[in-house]
Amino acid sequence: MTQIWNIPGGIHPPENKQQSLRAPLGHIDLPAELVLPLNQHLGAPAEPVVAVGDNVKTGQVIAQPGGQFSAAVHASSSGRVIAIEDRPLPHPSGFAGPCIVIAPDGLDTWINLEPCPDYRAQEPVELVQKIRLAGIAGMGGAGFPTAIKLAPKANQPIDTLILNGTECEPYITADDRLMRDRPEQVIEGARLMAYLLGEPDRVVIGIEDNKPEAIAALRAAAEGSPIEIAGFPTKYPSGGEKQLITILTGREVPAGKIPADIGIVVQNVGTAVAAWRAVVRGEPLISRITTVVGEALDVQRNVEVRLGTPVAHVLAAHGFQAAKASRIVLGGPMMGYAIETGDVPVVKTTNCILAPSQQELPAPPPAQACIRCGMCSEACPASLLPQQLYWYARAQDHEKLEAYNLFDCIECGACAYVCPSSIPLVHYYRAAKGDIRQAQVDKEKADRSRERFAFRQERIARQEAEKEAKRAERAKAAAAAKAKMAEKKSNAGTASDPVATAIAKAKAQQASAQQSPVEQRAKLERQLSAAQGRLALAQEKLSQAETEEQAEKCRAAVKTAEIKLTDVQQKLANAKDAPKDDPVAAAIERAKAKLTMSPLEKLNATIATLSERLQKAEAKLAQAQTEQSAHVEALQLGVDKLRAKLNEAQEELASHSPTTADERAPDDAASAAIERAKAKAAARAAMSDTDKLREQVSSLEVRLDKARQKLADAEAEGSPHVDALRTAADKLANKLADTQSRLENA
Ligand code: SF4
Ligand code: SF4
Repeated sequence: MTQIWNIPGGIHPPENKQQSLRAPLGHIDLPAELVLPLNQHLGAPAEPVVAVGDNVKTGQVIAQPGGQFSAAVHASSSGRVIAIEDRPLPHPSGFAGPCIVIAPDGLDTWINLEPCPDYRAQEPVELVQKIRLAGIAGMGGAGFPTAIKLAPKANQPIDTLILNGTECEPYITADDRLMRDRPEQVIEGARLMAYLLGEPDRVVIGIEDNKPEAIAALRAAAEGSPIEIAGFPTKYPSGGEKQLITILTGREVPAGKIPADIGIVVQNVGTAVAAWRAVVRGEPLISRITTVVGEALDVQRNVEVRLGTPVAHVLAAHGFQAAKASRIVLGGPMMGYAIETGDVPVVKTTNCILAPSQQELPAPPPAQACIRCGMCSEACPASLLPQQLYWYARAQDHEKLEAYNLFDCIECGACAYVCPSSIPLVHYYRAAKGDIRQAQVDKEKADRSRERFAFRQERIARQEAEKEAKRAERAKAAAAAKAKMAEKKSNAGTASDPVATAIAKAKAQQASAQQSPVEQRAKLERQLSAAQGRLALAQEKLSQAETEEQAEKCRAAVKTAEIKLTDVQQKLANAKDAPKDDPVAAAIERAKAKLTMSPLEKLNATIATLSERLQKAEAKLAQAQTEQSAHVEALQLGVDKLRAKLNEAQEELASHSPTTADERAPDDAASAAIERAKAKAAARAAMSDTDKLREQVSSLEVRLDKARQKLADAEAEGSPHVDALRTAADKLANKLADTQSRLENA
């Protein structure tokens, strides 16, 4: 004996079930058109897999599931697809929706079915998929895809399977008829579902005690099995899923949860039969038992109707008297809804077509103001506060509606049934639920749009930043290139432009004018040294002139050099504050003194100067040779010249006679030099090559002796010029040997 628990609220409206149970299950002819909506279930619509003009067979898939939360649609009879278009749907809104329209050929040619009598040889997951593809959806009225319920999550272990045979709504007897006529199929359906759910501890079929024939039939069919057939007192709405769970188990499904969360799965008995037929016989869902009832009909009964059959065709088959009917209702008087046209088809959830007379089910009286009687709260099986929900629904206060658990309302209509003000409370609740769902959809859309917008803004900002960085890089590179070009032009202009050169020179002069006295004196001293060098060079060239024309040119050069030297000496003399140890000042003094010297003194001074310069030049040459400088040759030439000049001066000194000197102007150094040069040039012109070589050998020997002497002195002093002097001495020795060789061969 199954323990039964009570539920809160509930009502006992007139049952009106016997009218349709007097006649056996009936069948009707196929209509001219079968209209099959793509969305006969909760979830995503199915997707057509046929086209207009296709010929289809009974049971053929014409639309496949549009997702996991969806169900397939099958041709409910063979024929030809004549349209895929919007047709009026069996829905409270009365809206049209996409449907596949088939013109039956009357042959009712089935597809080849794939029965599976030994389903336990297959994995539950394969069987669930078979149920899904057979298009099975909850046939109690909700239309929930059955395969979803039969595949609970891993964290939802199922301990109880309940088959719902309550059918508490007045007038409806489709499940009663099924349980009476096909109890074995119901029991087999329960066994199949238990297998698919992992054999839960308890399998119970719940039936109100107003269906004793059904209870008896099922108990007979379940004889010897652990399946419980639980009859319990009739009270509306005991057939609500959560209410039935409480009645049969004493457990309550928390708000916002589903039965699987507490280990329970509830399936309608008609759904269980459909699943069993799909698995064992391979039959897709193409028909259902529908109660056709009401005083506006000549025949009231349950009838097996092919899905897609227009309601008008069903009514016509039962002697519908339109003038007598107050309205046509799909479903029962409590939870059903009136339809505007008989063109809407019978679908998977159509458990009743009610065509009541005016007397039988009169139109509700006009609603009155709520008198706060509280009767609605007492009737509510979900322990809600219908009066508050009503007010909040009217105020469209969605937050309050959700806070008062509007979504726990099963729209049973018990509150409206008892309301003395005849307020259509359920209409308000349905509208409010629709508004909240739409608001949630709109919010999700807005959130997605906002996210997309924010992402787009971020992407644009990132792209702009990247562009800006590239622009900055290009500008920087362009500026660098421009500066480089300007620098090149500036350098080129300075080098080639005489004006720029003059400007640079003027700037240099200006800078020079701004030099300190010491700097100016140093500069003058350099100029003095240069002037002396030029004069000496000019004098040397004059001395080597071999023709009168050359001598004349050299004399002019000597004169110019003397003038320049005098000018520099004058400037140096006028320079301010020359330090006493200033070498420039000393040079000036030496130059002044030289001007007052006698020719012999001048000659000695020249020899001293030449010796000093030669020594320095040789040191530089030695250094350059050590460093393997590119100036070695030039320095060597300078050294040779100085050495030659020194030799000449020494020779002149040696041959100097007071008479000769006295015959010359005592203060005309240039004239004396000219005279000496003339004499030397004449002597050299008269010399043979052998004599010249001999003279060179003699000169080189003198120089070599001196070089070796200097080397010895440097080595004794530890001078840093030792190496350079040794190199120079070696070179002199080599040169002497070469000259001697040439002399010998001459
Ligand atoms: S039953 Fe009707 S009148 Fe009474 S409180 Fe509820 S809504 Fe108001
Ligand atoms: S329709 Fe909703 S509020 Fe009214 S009695 Fe039923 S469950 Fe309660």
